[in-house]
Parts: sequence; structure tokens; C-alpha cells
Amino acid sequence: MFGLTTKNEYNRLKRKIEELSSFFPIAVCVVSPSGIIIETNNIFEELTGYKKGDLASFPSDILSGAVKEKEFELKTKEKADIPVKAFLHKKDKNIVLGIMSVSEAESVLKNLEKKTEEKIRELKETKKIILEIFKETEKNKEKVKNEREKNISVVENLKSGLFCVDNKKRIYIINQEAEKIMEVQKEEIIGEHIFKLNKFKNFKEVVPFLSREIIEKEEKEIRIKERVFIFSFLPMKKQENRLGILVIFNDITKEKAIEKAKNDFVTLAAHQLRTPSAAVKWALGMLLAGDVGEISKPQRELADKAYRANDKMISLIKNLLNLEKIENKKYFSRVLLLSIEKVIKEVLDEYKEEIAIKKIEIRVFIEKKEIPNIMADPEGIKIVITNILDNAIKYTLPKGKIRISIDVDGKKVLISVRDTGIGIPENQKIKIFKRFFRADNVLKMDTEGSGVGLYMSKNIVEAHGGEMWFESKEKKGTCFYFTIPIKKMFSEYITEDFY
Ligand code: ADP
Repeated sequence: MFGLTTKNEYNRLKRKIEELSSFFPIAVCVVSPSGIIIETNNIFEELTGYKKGDLASFPSDILSGAVKEKEFELKTKEKADIPVKAFLHKKDKNIVLGIMSVSEAESVLKNLEKKTEEKIRELKETKKIILEIFKETEKNKEKVKNEREKNISVVENLKSGLFCVDNKKRIYIINQEAEKIMEVQKEEIIGEHIFKLNKFKNFKEVVPFLSREIIEKEEKEIRIKERVFIFSFLPMKKQENRLGILVIFNDITKEKAIEKAKNDFVTLAAHQLRTPSAAVKWALGMLLAGDVGEISKPQRELADKAYRANDKMISLIKNLLNLEKIENKKYFSRVLLLSIEKVIKEVLDEYKEEIAIKKIEIRVFIEKKEIPNIMADPEGIKIVITNILDNAIKYTLPKGKIRISIDVDGKKVLISVRDTGIGIPENQKIKIFKRFFRADNVLKMDTEGSGVGLYMSKNIVEAHGGEMWFESKEKKGTCFYFTIPIKKMFSEYITEDFY
């Protein structure tokens, strides 16, 4: 019986499985070191499709019993991958395996942050290691050589793709994973100048980064065949000397697919909600207007509350639908010459009441005598200004101050909105422009918000060729900045092809 020596032993294992699964709904199996399933329970069979006697493809460290706990992708009998967490118990030669399935989306999304942190840590570690490799010196050569070999083996076995370019722009190191992804052989590219890499099609989008001077870490998503990778380009320095560029990349295809599925779902939900929420608005409007008869004061108060709450929902739905348009670049069809000053005044006017209720002091500073017009989508720019101003008002306590400044910075108009509000916690600054993100301190404040405003605004600004950033100190205040290119001078439109 599949490698089991006695009937007694078999019964003991069966009891163990029953014992385990009776108090915890867990998929359990007993598997031999060669991967043959010896015993299972129903949950396991339902989850994986494997039955007694089947050969399952478990990772080798599970089959050897080398680990006690492991998360991995289990290939089901139908060849689908499901992420599972396995708990191991080695019993003689065989392994008793408890498996919990984590729904794919949940697991990936939950682990995303952890993974990113790990990747950053990994990046830092790797950078250190690469610097060590570069630091090879004349003295103590033997020790350095050993150290170097150890480091090289770490780099080789890294799960991320990695290569380095020295300060003469020649490829210095490339690991196995990078060879595989970029579809090149070490021998054909080590020592080659980066411009020679252009002949390898997977390097096409990478070379422009390598040819520049990288001052700070830069990131770029690059599609290679059917997969999406996130490439990080890091400068390598020893004191003030530039040693070259370190490139590390990871496959994020799955995360992208899940993000897309999530976005599609949000859009679909928003589309579906549009009609019923408009109907609610219409019905409540009739009720409040007395079209269906007189209503009492408490009834009116209640209907009024419902009307306003529904309005908020409609504006959220509108935002979610705008998001879709912006992401799919369907937005900027109407580009006009605009006075940014005028748009700001318009938005301020719409917030007059709230500003008065909170007794916030608002001042607008026009820093240059003449602020040139911008070429922009009026609706888009209004969304940006409304979001920034709405946040500044919302996250500033009563009697606070807001300063708006309009300036010119080279060929761009620079707008800043500074408030004396609650600020953004240091450890959450990195997430501020992410979709649906709201910081802890605003959640505690019980303010309304959806966390899409800034994400949307940054997208709009960048689509106009501008930039958006902020400075903030918790409990002191925040300043959001953005730039939009000034309309081109007439002479700039006249190029060679004009004649
Ligand atoms: P929300 O609808 O929550 O305001 P946004 O995308 O506009 O969504 O902003 C995202 C988050 O950024 C906010 O929830 C808040 O945590 C933070 N934030 C934005 N502007 C400010 C500000 N002026 N002061 C403090 N926190 C801010």
C-alpha cells in the first residue's frame, strides 16, 4: 500500500487526518517522498482534485520534509494554480500535509504590501552586495575573492532579474533570471556597450534608461511578450564616484491582472449604480418639492438627509466613472486656452459656504505680474483644483489657513495649495497617490472621502505634461503642488514641416 509498511501504521495516519480535520476545516493528505498521495480527506479532494494513489506535484522541500510551513502555488489535478499555505508534519518517511487555500485575489492583494516591502529590502541588500563586488581591492585579495564569489552566487540565485552597467556603460554582471527574461546569453552581452543591446528586442525600452545618468531610483513598467515587469534602475555610488547603474526587475503580471479585474469590477458597479441613484434623486426631489402632497417637518428633515447622502453617492459614482475615462485616456479630447486663475476663483466660489462655516482664512497669491494661459482640458483642470482644495478645507480644522499661490516656473505654471491642517503621517506618504488610499488620521477624523481624488488628479496633471507632489508634516499642515505647461509660443508651433 503505497510505501506504507503495516496496516497499523495506515490506520494511525488515517486517524491523524480525521483528528486534524475534525476540529479545523482543513484539507489534509499524507504523501510519500516520491509525491504519491497515500491518504486524503474530502476537503483535500475537492480542493485539488487528487485522490488516493495519484501523483501530485508538490515542491521538493515539502516532499523531503525540510520545511514546517510553506506558502506555494499548488498545481491541481486540472493544472490550475492555487496559492496555498501548507503545514507539515513528518511521520517516518511520509509527510502529513495540512493545506489551507487562500482565494487568489485575496492572497495576492493582502501580500502585495508585504511583498513590496520585501522587494525594497531585497533591493537594498542587493545594492549592498553589488557594491561589495565593485569594491574589489588589491590588498587582501584572497579574502576579497572568496567574498566576491559568495556575493556572485547570491546574485545568481536571486529570484529577480538583475544586471549592472559600469560607468563606461558596459554590461558588467547579469544573473540567470535576467538572461532568461531578456532572452540573452551572458557570453553575448557581458562587456558590451549598452547601445549594442538595441539589437536584442527585449532591451529596447531599457536602453534609454541605461544611457542616462540615474541620480535617484527610477522605476518603469515594461511589457515583455505577454508579461509585465517592473524595472528598478538604481545609481551605484562609492563616496562621490559613480560606479554605474544597477537594474533589478520583477514579474508583476499577476498583480496587474488582479488590479485590472478589480478596476473593471468597480467600473461595472459604478455604471450599474448610476441609473438607480438618479431615480432616487428624482423621487426624493419630488417628495421635497411637495409634488406628492404636504410632508411633515420630521419627514422633510429625513428626506432632505437622504437627498444629500444620495448626492454624495452620485458624485462618488461620477468620480469612479471619470477614473475609468482618465485611465483609458478618453478624457482629454477638448483642450482649450485657459486662465488657471479664473478656474481657481470659480472653484473657490463653489466652496464659499463651507469656507465660511469652518471660518477658514483663504488667500490667493499671484506671484508674477502676468500668469500665461495654459493649454488644458477645462473639466480635467477643474477636477484637480477641486480635489486639492476640497482636501485642504476638509483636513484643516476650523479657523485654519489656506494659501493658494499661482506662479510661473520656466515653461510651466506652478500652483500650490498650503494648509494648516492635520497633515499626512510620515509612514503613509508613499501611498498618498494610490487609488482608494486614505490615511489613518483622516479615517479617525470621521471625514467623508473615497481616496480617489488625488489618484485621479495626478493622472490628469501628468496627462497634461505636468507634475504633482506634496510636502506635509503631521499636525502642522500640507502643501500640494502641481505644474501645467504654459501654452506654446507661436514660434514654437512653426517647425520645419510647417513650410
Ligand atoms: P479623499 O476622498 O479621502 O480625500 P483623496 O484621494 O483626495 O481622497 O486623498 C487621499 C488621502 O490623502 C486622504 O484621504 C488623506 O489621507 C490625504 N490627504 C490629501 N490631502 C490632504 C491634506 N490637505 N491634508 C491631510 N491629508 C490629506
